[in-house]
Amino acid sequence: MFWFRRTTHWPGMVTVPVTPSPGVIEISEERNLDIACGAAVGGGSVVYTGVTVAPRRQYFEALYPSGLSYREFSQVWYPKVRRMLAPSPMPQDVYRSVPFTHSRIWDRQMSNARMRTYPIDSMFDWGVIRQELSRKVQLSSTIGDSDFGCSNGAKTDLTRTYLREALATGPVQLRPLHEVRSISRRTGGRYSVVVRRLGADGTVLGTDEYSCEMLFLAAGTLNTNRLLVAARERGELPDLPADIGTGFGDNGDQINVRSEPLTPIGPAQGAPSASAAFFPDEFGLPLLVENWCVPEYASLPVTGTLAMTVDTDHRGTFRYDRGSRRVVLSDWTREKSAAAAEATSGYAHRVLAANPGCLPVSPNYPRTFTAHPVGGCVIGRSTDLEGRVRGNKGLYVMDGSLLPGNVGGANPSLTIAALAERAMAGIIAAGG
Ligand SMILES: Cc1cc2nc3c(=O)[nH]c(=O)nc-3n(C[C@H](O)[C@H](O)[C@H](O)COP(=O)(O)OP(=O)(O)OC[C@H]3O[C@@H](n4cnc5c(N)ncnc54)[C@H](O)[C@@H]3O)c2cc1C
Repeated sequence: MFWFRRTTHWPGMVTVPVTPSPGVIEISEERNLDIACGAAVGGGSVVYTGVTVAPRRQYFEALYPSGLSYREFSQVWYPKVRRMLAPSPMPQDVYRSVPFTHSRIWDRQMSNARMRTYPIDSMFDWGVIRQELSRKVQLSSTIGDSDFGCSNGAKTDLTRTYLREALATGPVQLRPLHEVRSISRRTGGRYSVVVRRLGADGTVLGTDEYSCEMLFLAAGTLNTNRLLVAARERGELPDLPADIGTGFGDNGDQINVRSEPLTPIGPAQGAPSASAAFFPDEFGLPLLVENWCVPEYASLPVTGTLAMTVDTDHRGTFRYDRGSRRVVLSDWTREKSAAAAEATSGYAHRVLAANPGCLPVSPNYPRTFTAHPVGGCVIGRSTDLEGRVRGNKGLYVMDGSLLPGNVGGANPSLTIAALAERAMAGIIAAGG
């Protein structure tokens, strides 16, 4: 599961030694915040829970630059991404099956608290999940393995949608285990990209240099910020905007777990999220809660919630540390997660109060954590509205770092893809 780690490190997971290997998730232990992101061909779509939802209009309009119209996004770009990905809600027969007992318990607890839940769209192939349920294929999504990627194809990650279509065009090549180490600008204006080739045990097999006129960064929030901030501070891309690296946020993420000790939950928890609820003003910050599985607790009677808040205030900065020659998140404090934690705790108290015998659970993980790092190269500020990096012709950013530090009460992937669709359409139309 982990990109070249020596020990496991995940909410609820016991820390044990593991052989370093090119696993599918990178965890970066920044000061006061652990950042998780995909590290595989297909990026975060390989490890994500596949929830595919858009922010509501008022939060989009409060967070994103005024030149990006919500109307245009909801009529053109979100539908365009949805046509490619084809997300869908969990069918009733799957919802009623044993691995989703945790989802039904979660919905019942919410209903007891008079909280309205609704089904959410996600990126699973329900046909494969039905085959898992009838034991015709190896189990994966129904035992909560999705953070590892679903090896039986239960998750429709990007290798089956965008990447497959890109490869089918002909000129696209994919180079797994090629790690971009640095980018710079050569005299004449071309970009240079230095890449090291890794073996499956992490051995460096060689270093290559590519050069190009147009360079699109899509390394995800953590790694696009690392590459750009380092390039600016080492003088390799000296004209990069000074605000690159700023405006980072954790999407106001919080994990919440509760237990109904006397309610059997079955031997394992299925991964896809069945339902969600949204609270615009009850808990201080607008709050989206989704039912998530807690695979590490296997058959224990616990239900998991991923909470996301609309937090317009708390942001962090990636800076270059000259001593270690690394880019680090320099100013994140626990206080920056406190408002989101308070909103989530208010929500959890209301559910517990309405469900006698239900208890709060503290996962075995004392750190603050986000699987939704966003921002740092904020659209409309570090880039124009189509991802062109200001002052650097031919350089583009096309990933989560474009988001304004918070999605707006939603998981990020649909909005990242919609921004990229809009940007690419504009770049192609303008010839650059
Ligand atoms: C456990 C988990 C669950 C999640 N669940 C959901 C969910 O249900 N719904 C949702 O919307 N979002 C979810 N997310 C978040 C979602 O996965 C990310 O927001 C999204 O994938 C980010 O897209 P991106 O294009 O910015 O970057 P990524 O998808 O992270 O893609 C970046 C790519 O660049 C590659 N890369 C990085 N650095 C380098 C380098 N130096 N050289 C070469 N390649 C490099 C990476 O390997 C990766 O393939 C989840 C994330 C995690 C970790």
